[in-house]
Amino acid sequence: MALTGIQIFKLLPQTNCKECGFPTCLAFAMQLASGKAELDQCPYVSDEAREKLAEASAPPILPVQIGKGVRKRTIGGETVLYRHEKTFFNQTVISAKVGSDISEDDLKKKLTTWNALQFERVGYNMRPEMIAVEDVKGDKEAFAKVAKTIAETSEFNVILMSENVDVMKAGVEACGFKAPLIYAATDKTVDDYGNLAKENDLPLAVKADSVENLIPLTDKLVDMGLKRLVIDSGSRDVKQAFEDQVAIRRAALKGGNRSLGFPTITFPCEMASNLDIETMLAAMFVAKYGAMTVLSDFTTESLFPLLLARLNIYTDPQRPMTMEEGIYEIGKPDENSPVLITTNFALTYFVVSGEIESSKVSSWLLVKDTEGLSVLTAWAAGKFAGDDVGMFVNKCGIKDKVKHTEVILPGYAAAIVGEMEEELPGWTVTVGPREAAHIPAFLKAR
Ligand code: SF4
Repeated sequence: MALTGIQIFKLLPQTNCKECGFPTCLAFAMQLASGKAELDQCPYVSDEAREKLAEASAPPILPVQIGKGVRKRTIGGETVLYRHEKTFFNQTVISAKVGSDISEDDLKKKLTTWNALQFERVGYNMRPEMIAVEDVKGDKEAFAKVAKTIAETSEFNVILMSENVDVMKAGVEACGFKAPLIYAATDKTVDDYGNLAKENDLPLAVKADSVENLIPLTDKLVDMGLKRLVIDSGSRDVKQAFEDQVAIRRAALKGGNRSLGFPTITFPCEMASNLDIETMLAAMFVAKYGAMTVLSDFTTESLFPLLLARLNIYTDPQRPMTMEEGIYEIGKPDENSPVLITTNFALTYFVVSGEIESSKVSSWLLVKDTEGLSVLTAWAAGKFAGDDVGMFVNKCGIKDKVKHTEVILPGYAAAIVGEMEEELPGWTVTVGPREAAHIPAFLKAR
């Protein structure tokens, strides 16, 4: 938990020498507490005080990096209970589980299918990140082989799940290069798993049978020098698991409980009997507050809505998703192709561009910066005014690309036609459909 000015003052030399640029140590402490000064400005802070101050300024939920390659992720690092207070930063990592007894053929088929499950949405590539390998029969060769195949032949990162330290060692040896998550140290294996994670510099999950019982385990592991921890309160009852997530987040953020200040992992695959319910539970944990979630399978119809829910929850509520202002080619437009204009709200762009694409009429789409507002809202807020939009058409470079002089305006902004035409002498401003869904018929009928 952040220190107050008075608490910081007690750690300073209290000589009021002014070398930091402030008249007293107390004034410096107050500025430091509010983030307006740097500790290095005082040359006389002891090493001990420096360590305490650094510890106090660490994030309440430690960020933990998981995996390697294009699907590596940072989890944790969250600072708020409610997304609208600021934003959630690090997306929940989504995983599916396979048993170590899976046949080579089945594993390859799954990897091919799962790897193809990638979706483009508002400019983002949405895809799951990890595969959990669960030790089924204590067969370390089989466990290592499955982990190795996933690590070497796919982009997926790996969660190694075994209660047997020898099996776990074999898994670590097989895929350690991909920075797998070791799951999980318990009260029985905390020393062995702690040492294994430390020796191999790997993130380690910790599992207990309650939130309270996690505390001595994480304390012990931190004392061993481990910081990249992921915690599992052990509950597989939906209500209890949900309450645990909230309790952990609250304890870390509001109670300053460092022992619980780690990202969490949840297991919908062990809480439901079918993938639909699992997916709904996973969506719940995406919102509150699972940093990782493990399903039994991925299918298009289950994964896509889950990834979309994740994208929505983890966008900054104070900054709409936007496109860059400019000229976008839809299809293969030429000098005779229609010119349409819209705003830079990402959703508006993707809906409009999608409808133009489906019309099969290659077009130029001009995207005007409206600070991420949709057409009607931007117009109402004065950010899609006729003179501005006209000036943009004039300067954006579209005149060098087409030999006609017509621009199609969204129906909702029909009121700005006159002003636009004043800014664009010789041009015709045509009012297009109000709804994007009507764009294909509109373009085809021209
Ligand atoms: S430089 Fe350090 S000791 Fe001197 S006044 Fe500033 S805080 Fe106090």
